[in-house]
Order: sequence, then structure tokens, then C-alpha cells
Amino acid sequence: MINSFDFVSFLVIKQLCSLIHVNVDCFGKDVLKIVVSQLKIKNLNMSLVVVGSMAFDAIETPFGKSDKIIGGAATYIAWCASNFTPVKQISVVGGDFPQAELDALTARGVVLEGVQIKKDEKTFFWSGKYHLDMNTRDTLDTQLNVLENFQPVVPESYQDCEILMLGNLVPSVQSSVIKQMRNRPKLIVMDTMNFWMEIMMDDLKHTISLVDVLLVNDSEARQLSGEYSLVKAAKKIMEMGPKYVIIKKGEHGALLFHENEVFFAPALPLEEVFDPTGAGDTFAGGFVAHLAKTKDISFENMKTAIILGSAMASFCVEKFGTQRLTEINAEDIKARVASFVQLVNFDIELV
Ligand code: AMP
Repeated sequence: MINSFDFVSFLVIKQLCSLIHVNVDCFGKDVLKIVVSQLKIKNLNMSLVVVGSMAFDAIETPFGKSDKIIGGAATYIAWCASNFTPVKQISVVGGDFPQAELDALTARGVVLEGVQIKKDEKTFFWSGKYHLDMNTRDTLDTQLNVLENFQPVVPESYQDCEILMLGNLVPSVQSSVIKQMRNRPKLIVMDTMNFWMEIMMDDLKHTISLVDVLLVNDSEARQLSGEYSLVKAAKKIMEMGPKYVIIKKGEHGALLFHENEVFFAPALPLEEVFDPTGAGDTFAGGFVAHLAKTKDISFENMKTAIILGSAMASFCVEKFGTQRLTEINAEDIKARVASFVQLVNFDIELV
């Protein structure tokens, strides 16, 4: 059955056929289906490649504790972004990573050709404990395992990449993916964390110099720039290379900086925040997926993209790990975005 989305693709094929004087009816149904699906993926979205950790996490919050559960920056990004656009994933896992988790991602349109499985090694492990405010946390343990010697290989089928999302990972691994792209993607977005600032600042600054958008949280922005004011911090970071800086402030929303402009997206006030792990990655997933889906990487469209990122992050924190992201559907997302519009919508008349 052809839905309205397919129907647009069908009309495009019909137009093209008429230009070369070919009757569209001479193609079989199967051929048309394949052409339609290719058009959907290649022309109606910008191709998105995601790089980052896939992990086991153990999390402690003031409200509970999880056993070893599925986590990792690229895992959260993929679960979120695949609501809007196909994703091509680059990562590495050990033989202990459940096949069912990989299958669940594949079923959502996440291509895993670039995910290496090291059968005899262990998956990256991270453990963290949140403070009472749920905005700050201590890392209790980081076991790099498969990440220690990870050398990503960009598959040929990923070379059409238009938006590259570098999720949190060893900075030299992030830059090696950029180097492997034959054509520079139209937009390179990078996330990172204090861990890399503490142990490899030079590598990190080199990778930052290669990207267009840097995503960090407020304390990371201060650590990276040496400035307390977030406005000054963003300016200093933009001098390092990125044209856009996004500073995430947990329950206080996110700021998007570009040249002398700044835009603010709030976080949805929630009655209960269960587990903030992965909220930043989910935010990043919503941000890049919106740009990919709308094929528009302008500053104006980035403003909408950070609203969508905030809306998606608000789901992530409602349950431990990726669980909530695996449950939501298009209707839930629509309703949540509508709540955001209500949150910031006001008329003002100056007297
Ligand atoms: P977020 O809460 O958005 O900062 O991301 C949390 C996720 O980042 C967790 O699922 C961890 O597995 C992952 N993570 C934590 N530390 C690192 C690290 N050093 N490198 C890569 N991923 C990490």
C-alpha cells in the first residue's frame, strides 16, 4: 500500500519518467517499491552517521539503583534519532553485549555495519552516582575494555554521510572518523565530557577544531574555556573552531550560541526525574535527527532542533537507562512537543 509519504516519491518518479518519455506503468510493482524506498532514504532526509560508545552502565540515584544495564552515548542517540530518520552507527561492543539489543536497534532502522563486535573482549563499562539535585554526578568507575584499542572503520555505504554526530568517545577516535570521510559531511556535531578534558586535553582541542557544533554541559564549558560566565565560555569555545556551541544545563534547559546570537530552550519541568543518564545524548539525537529529517542546517532550524532535543531528553529521564526511549511512539512525541510549545508561548504588549 502506498501512504502519503510514498505517494510524493511516486509522483517524483512519474515526473522523471515523463521527462524521458517513459511510461511509469512499464515498471513492475517491486521495482517501484525499491525506487520509492531509496528515494525516501536518500532524498527526503540527510544521511546521518552516529559514532559513540555502546556500553553497560550501573547507575545509582537518590531514588534507586540499577544493575548492569544497556547504555552508551551512541545507544541513546540511536534510540532517539531513529524516531525521525535512518541512522548509520559506528561503535564497538564485546562478545558480552546482548544480540537482542542489536536486533532491536536494527528493527528501528539503525544500520550496524559499522559496529564492531569483539567476541573475546568485554563491552565498555561505566558506573555513576547522582547527587540529590540529580544535576551533578560522580563517575564511580570507567572500564574502557573494547574502547581501549578501538579503531573505527567507516564502511563504504556510510560515505554518503551528510551529518556526522560524534557522540562521547576518545577524541582521537572521533577525529579518525572525520578523516575517513572522503567528502567532508555538511555538518559535524560533537559531544564530549570532562573525563577527556582531564586526561587528553590536547587531543580533545584538536578534534574540537575540526567540528561545526560542540555540545557540552555547563561545567564542561567552564572547564574547557576557563571562564565562569557561559557567554564568555561559548565565545572562547567558538574561537577554538566550532561555529555553534550548545551548552546543556540539565533541568535548566540549553543555550545555543552562534556568532553574537543566543537562543534558549527550556527543559520541561517534570514531577519526577528518575535517572538523568543519557539525557545529553538523547538531546543530541533529537537535535541531529531534526536537522537530518528537515534537510536544513541553518541557525534558525537549529533553534527548533534544540526544542526537539529537549523534548526527547525529557522522556529519557523518566525511567532507568534507555527503557523509556524504547517505549515511546510518534503520538507521545507529538504530545510532548505540544507541551513545550505551551511552556514557552506567550504574548507580551509593552505599555
Ligand atoms: P550522558 O548522561 O548523556 O552524559 O551520557 C551517559 C552515557 O555516556 C552512559 O550511558 C555511559 O555509558 C557513557 N559514557 C560515560 N563515560 C564515557 C566515556 N568516558 N566515553 C564514552 N562514553 C561514556
